[in-house]
Amino acid sequence: RSQRSTVNVAVLGATGSIGTSTAEVIGHLNRIDPDHAWRLWAASGHNNLDVLETLAGQAGRDGRAPARLIFSDPSSISPETATRRFESLLGEPGGLRFGPDQLVDAARDADVDVVVAAIVGRAGLESTVAAVEAGKRVALANKETLVVAGGLVSEKAAQSDAQLLPVDSEHSAIWQCIAHSPSPAKRLILTASGGPFRSASAAEMREATPDGALAHPTWQMGRKISIDSATMMNKALEIIEARWLFDVSADQIEVMIHPQSIIHSMVEFQDSSVLAQLSPPDMRLPIQYALTHPRRLRCPTPPLDRQQTWDLSLQPVDLDRFPALTLGFEVARVGGTAGAVVNAANEVAVGLFLDGEIRFTDIVPLCQKTLENHTFEQRPGLARLLELDQWARQETRHCAERLSSPPRR
Ligand code: NAD
Ligand code: MG
Repeated sequence: RSQRSTVNVAVLGATGSIGTSTAEVIGHLNRIDPDHAWRLWAASGHNNLDVLETLAGQAGRDGRAPARLIFSDPSSISPETATRRFESLLGEPGGLRFGPDQLVDAARDADVDVVVAAIVGRAGLESTVAAVEAGKRVALANKETLVVAGGLVSEKAAQSDAQLLPVDSEHSAIWQCIAHSPSPAKRLILTASGGPFRSASAAEMREATPDGALAHPTWQMGRKISIDSATMMNKALEIIEARWLFDVSADQIEVMIHPQSIIHSMVEFQDSSVLAQLSPPDMRLPIQYALTHPRRLRCPTPPLDRQQTWDLSLQPVDLDRFPALTLGFEVARVGGTAGAVVNAANEVAVGLFLDGEIRFTDIVPLCQKTLENHTFEQRPGLARLLELDQWARQETRHCAERLSSPPRR
């Protein structure tokens, strides 16, 4: 075992749903991988610092304690308190870092082999871009970065030879289906569980509460992506993500409803043959595959149970009840500044809904309205995209104030 070379992993957004699953996979790989030792080299948390403490402690007991712990929100803890609580959890002294710039610094660090981009939303953009520019292997959960700046990030990855490896289960499935085919895919078929409102009426959706919308039937996830799944904006973001990750056009992408979340996506080839990837709904598998690709090793995800009947259904989507999908296809088609605007509008609208300020059924129309109100540009730079992100946040708040019928409190 002492011959094993070490893989240093920086997990940005380590305290979230994907982050904690990633830390678990790293610990597991470190125990079972005959070829490599795995180290949680850096871990970041924004405000859930108890989780950061648990992760760092566990990494130390599993093998090697982290070299860096990053507090991306410096107002969440004072340096004195951080030193008292966290310094002893480090593998080497001096590794406590504060502020968002430290995410970028860790993403570029020469010691880092793999960056797991697990921050939620546009907040993950700078560190993900930094990892791509530094030519890292990037395990990408933070789909919003590709929604905001997919064109730029793809160009940068081509220049730096960075590998952008999907963690999102649908994109991991597509990647696994196309991995061994010399012929290109004709169509990518993303599956969607349909979320908690798959069979709800328009009237029921209008009255949906935050708790109802957060209750996803098949996946345990962070709050923002859970609401995105309920509106199906998550699938819209995934259409855009697929467009950039696999360099396909919007009309090569389709979506089907698959309530069981076992078929994670499918690929159709020129001869109409369709390949699919199946596994239980458990993110540890796609996370591990992004870390060990092209190798496949034993995984904490249990195998599918062959003693049970598998009722796997696939249905077309209802675009009338889920207008987010039409928006997703449109953004994937036009590119340019559209993704940055829709992403920012959605982040704000989800926050307003969770705060009880707007209705569930206001979220997608607010995104549409903000997109309509912006002046489209085809080739924006990163600075322009970030300006538009700010503009769209204000515009969405402004449009939300003018809604005629706010939710009852
Ligand atoms: P989460 O809310 O559980 O975790 C988010 C992480 O980001 C936390 O570590 C948090 O501390 C950190 N964070 C929050 N705001 C931040 C900020 N402003 N600056 C820096 N860090 C910040 O979210 P999640 O469900 O783990 O999702 C993370 C990403 O992975 C999202 O882009 C999501 O779309 C994607 N994803 C998640 C799942 C899933 O099963 N949870 C599946 C596919 C893709
Ligand atoms: Mg997904």
